[in-house]
This record gives sequence, structure tokens and C-alpha cells, in this order.
Amino acid sequence: MKTKHIPPEWAFEFRRHRCPFMPIGYRMGKLALEYLGIEREKDHGFFVFPEIGIGHPQMCFADGIQVATWATYAKGLMEKTFYGKLAATFYHPKKVLSVIP
Ligand SMILES: [Zn+2]
Repeated sequence: MKTKHIPPEWAFEFRRHRCPFMPIGYRMGKLALEYLGIEREKDHGFFVFPEIGIGHPQMCFADGIQVATWATYAKGLMEKTFYGKLAATFYHPKKVLSVIP
């Protein structure tokens, strides 16, 4: 399978290892932006709720979403739901999208 959504090399360096979950999160984030018809987060108007729990590989998945969307935990734009699933809800004030890869 080919995808146009390939994470930038610096994202792998940031994670400090290569596993498939950061690219899966990255691709999910990019596809969510396309489906919602919005661009990467510029300030504080877009939120993501990953349905992940704790530990690896779930945080790799979340980092991929952050790299793709620029909605970050540090900016308060992401909040885990702790459902233990590799899924996420993408929330924009005028649009909502739930995705399960
Ligand atoms: Zn990983």
C-alpha cells in the first residue's frame, strides 16, 4: 500500500526509534485534516482526543497525530481518553470526526 502521508524524518529522530505506530498516527492525523477540510492547528482552535491508554506504542501513535496536526499535549489541545484503543476523535468547533484505523 502506498500513502502520500509519510512522516518527516525529524519525527523519527524525535521518537528515538522506528516503529509503525508513529506513522499510523501521522497518517490518521493527515487524513482527519483532509476529511475535516482544515489545515494544521495554528493556535488553539482544534482538539484531538486519542482513545489510547498508557505506554508504548500508544504514545508513538499520539506523537504521530501531533506531528501531523500540530495539536499538542503541551498546548492543551490533546487529551487522552484512556479507552485503550488506537482511535481518536478530532474536534473543531464546527466539525467533529471520529476515526478508528
Ligand atoms: Zn514506538
